[in-house]
Amino acid sequence: MRIVADLHIHSKYSRATSRDLDLPNLWAWAQMKGIDVIGTGDFTHPQWFQELSEQLEETALGFYQLKEAEQSKAKVAVPVVCQRDVYFVPTVEISTIYKKKDRVRKIHQIIVAPNLKQAARLNEKLDKIGNIRSDGRPILGLDSKELLKLVLSLSEDFLYIPAHAWTPHFAVFGSQSGFDSLKECYEELTPNIYAIETGLSSDPPMNWRLSQLDNLVLVSNSDAHSPQKLGREANLLDIEPNYPALYQAIREHRRDQFLGTIEFFPEEGKYHLDGHRDCGVCLEPQESLKREGLCPKCGRKLVLGVLHLVEKLADKPYVETQDFASLHTAARPFESIIPLAEMVAEMMGVKSSTSPRVQNLYFELLAKFGSEFFILRQLDLTTLANMGYQKLSEGIVAMREGRVLKKAGYDGEFGVIKVFQGVKQKKQMKLFSD
Ligand SMILES: [Zn+2]
Ligand SMILES: [Zn+2]
Repeated sequence: MRIVADLHIHSKYSRATSRDLDLPNLWAWAQMKGIDVIGTGDFTHPQWFQELSEQLEETALGFYQLKEAEQSKAKVAVPVVCQRDVYFVPTVEISTIYKKKDRVRKIHQIIVAPNLKQAARLNEKLDKIGNIRSDGRPILGLDSKELLKLVLSLSEDFLYIPAHAWTPHFAVFGSQSGFDSLKECYEELTPNIYAIETGLSSDPPMNWRLSQLDNLVLVSNSDAHSPQKLGREANLLDIEPNYPALYQAIREHRRDQFLGTIEFFPEEGKYHLDGHRDCGVCLEPQESLKREGLCPKCGRKLVLGVLHLVEKLADKPYVETQDFASLHTAARPFESIIPLAEMVAEMMGVKSSTSPRVQNLYFELLAKFGSEFFILRQLDLTTLANMGYQKLSEGIVAMREGRVLKKAGYDGEFGVIKVFQGVKQKKQMKLFSD
């Protein structure tokens, strides 16, 4: 069964997240986005864990569905053409802060539990180590390797995935507080890492440049802090909907099971290039190297972006090809997308994708054609054009073909991707046409 999975999200119990992040709204928005499997996020948080236990029921091994009585509590009505089964799988993101080799390390990791029972066992252990009760994404003063060891001691069936691996401030390869290799971080336990999350600011070709990642599955998730941001990135699988199948697809990185990812254009991510947000300075890696990493305006250190870091740690040249015979075995196809509401906003010349005009058209499209992923990836665009959406169909064609205008993000400032400028660029291959 073809499945779209988003394994990294947060609940309303994480800091700086939307109050709407409860199970009924996640259930509704997953359908509208076109997501079949969604991480619960935040399972270490006692209240959230209680909601998971009360409102979900296990309908396949380790996969849970929202009880029918809860479904009417969603704030939005799911259009009939978007309706689908949504499975939840227990996940959490944990932040570790610790000292190793004289440097402070700050690393985020996603843990996927085989079921809620195992999640509860982990919660019990972590509750003794640090504070898991105040933030859905708990911060522990624990070495990431020790956390991995603890998880494996409970069960080898957990998945442990370094999160947004290149983010400067909180990631295993982060320029500010990470490492140069997974080995430095996880040492002899490194073989228990089967996947890394590439994050919004990097795409698979950037990650293919490091031989140390050759055997890992590159996963992509939304890291959503509101229901509307679900599926900013996601994974494409062909598996039965249950946890052992998900685990096997990632652990054995089988080409017929883990099909690939849906990605942001990496320039849209908040940390693609180098720069200084306060000074409005954004530089390509070569430029910031020439300036010895210092801001030309204020003279302080620039925040080095993901492209810079990849360049620094890469031991292979960049290949644009999606010719998988020439790539290593774990490499997978990917599609780059732009969120539909953003595209609609650009088309209307409206600044914010949350404005009522944009939202009206967004919901109109979902009601007529199906989920957001279906519209962006699969909808026949002649149909769209014939039904009065000529301009939008041109935008989606441009996106599918990779003819986009990019203004890259830096130092926490999101980049901007535009499609309605008639930009001529290289073609992006269509990979997952069903
Ligand atoms: Zn994080
Ligand atoms: Zn500056």
